[in-house]
Amino acid sequence: MSKEFDTVRVYIEKLKALESALVLFEWDLETLAPAGSVERTSKIIGALSEEYFNCLISSELSQAVYNAKASGRCSELETKILDKLEEEIDKNRRIPSKEYREFAELTSVSAAKWQEAKLSNDYDIFAPYLEKVVEFEKKFAGYVRTDEKTLYDVLLKDYEKGFDVERLDDFFDKLKKSLIPLVKNIGDVTKKIDCDFLLKSADIEKQKKFNTFLSEYLGFDFNRGVIQESEHPFTTSLHKDDVRITTHYYENNIESAIFSTIHETGHAIFEQGIGDDITMTPLEGGSCAVHESQSRMFENMIGRSKAFWMPLYEKLQAEFPGLFADVEIDKFVTAINRTQPSLIRTESDELTYSLHIIIRYEIEKELINGNLDVKKLPEIWNQKYEEYLGVKPEKYSEGILQDIHWSQGSIGYFPFYAVGNAIAAQIYAAMDKKINVEKCLEKKNIKKIREYLRENVHRYGMSKTADEFLKDITGEEFNPDYYIEYLTGKFTGLFM
Ligand SMILES: [Zn+2]
Repeated sequence: MSKEFDTVRVYIEKLKALESALVLFEWDLETLAPAGSVERTSKIIGALSEEYFNCLISSELSQAVYNAKASGRCSELETKILDKLEEEIDKNRRIPSKEYREFAELTSVSAAKWQEAKLSNDYDIFAPYLEKVVEFEKKFAGYVRTDEKTLYDVLLKDYEKGFDVERLDDFFDKLKKSLIPLVKNIGDVTKKIDCDFLLKSADIEKQKKFNTFLSEYLGFDFNRGVIQESEHPFTTSLHKDDVRITTHYYENNIESAIFSTIHETGHAIFEQGIGDDITMTPLEGGSCAVHESQSRMFENMIGRSKAFWMPLYEKLQAEFPGLFADVEIDKFVTAINRTQPSLIRTESDELTYSLHIIIRYEIEKELINGNLDVKKLPEIWNQKYEEYLGVKPEKYSEGILQDIHWSQGSIGYFPFYAVGNAIAAQIYAAMDKKINVEKCLEKKNIKKIREYLRENVHRYGMSKTADEFLKDITGEEFNPDYYIEYLTGKFTGLFM
């Protein structure tokens, strides 16, 4: 390690310490903190964020990064770390700190207004705030824009490099062409599927025990991780040896906790598998789409397969005889894969999920690049739901107001949920050629799958882009055909 890089490392450690404190507060607010603590604790969080921001944009750090790069003595990985830091510094410096603070204040208010609007089913409460968020996003994108073709491209790049409007348009056009007719053809068939047994009462304590077992079975290392409960399941981590996930239990919906636990475990296994050289550096974690590819591969491609349940189903039946004693495994697998066009993205099934994303993508793109009037959004939203999914929201709360993202200023994030699905299918196909995934699942050999993913994906964290990962693993760049083939094959096989 070069002497110059050592100087930068001191800053990296300080930034990491501040970031860890912020992550811990966030985790605490979602899980254990008393409700009354929010106001005062948010002041502590504000002070820590400011300290983080000041450290990041300090001229001393910029100088240290410059010196390290100029020395020519850094390793390839160190250079990647420096590049990533430089990118963060540059982005944050271009936005005037006064406006940055204004935006932070705006989003905390607009998130609260969104909540209020959703609860009272009144879009007008939220619309003026969304309008301001969009204005800020456009302005900020303008500040940091370099060679991107459109402003929305700038926002997209922040979440995943290499995926601009041109490429996403292409991806979503392909998806629409194959998914919309497939969903329409299958929709009526799955209406008749019996899944009432999944909604019978299941003891919460028993659910906890079973989900902990599932998570461990998949390879979550409890010596370096914990599971807690929260309203909305999520994963967070301080570093590879402290990875935290949450889940949410419903007495009359055993499926919900099972699949959100598997999903978050997929994220967690990624975090716990990050290389020793990457953890605690700015390259820790994974980009949006790559991270989501791992959670969705575990949740859907693995967790909803018959091969996965074959060695586990007797245990599930024994733990919950009231639900499953008389249900054959095939009936169970059919039920957990039933598909039905619906209004709510987070409750949608594997087949229709990406259609929910396309709607959000098309609206975001117009909001940022076009002149879409925020007041008209509910109308456009409803039209698209009718066109793509054949359903129409009766209330704002089950339509335009269902997701928190825009109120928090996360515009450009949604498309990568769908890209993540497609990346999962592409990686799975390559992995399957090497290790025969179904056979591993039937033999309870999850370790082989996990080791393949650790070796090819997890250990690299964010040191590779999605395209670099795909090229190295599959020999080609992002190719959505794998995803379309997978969905078509799976769902026509199950239901047609
Ligand atoms: Zn996720």
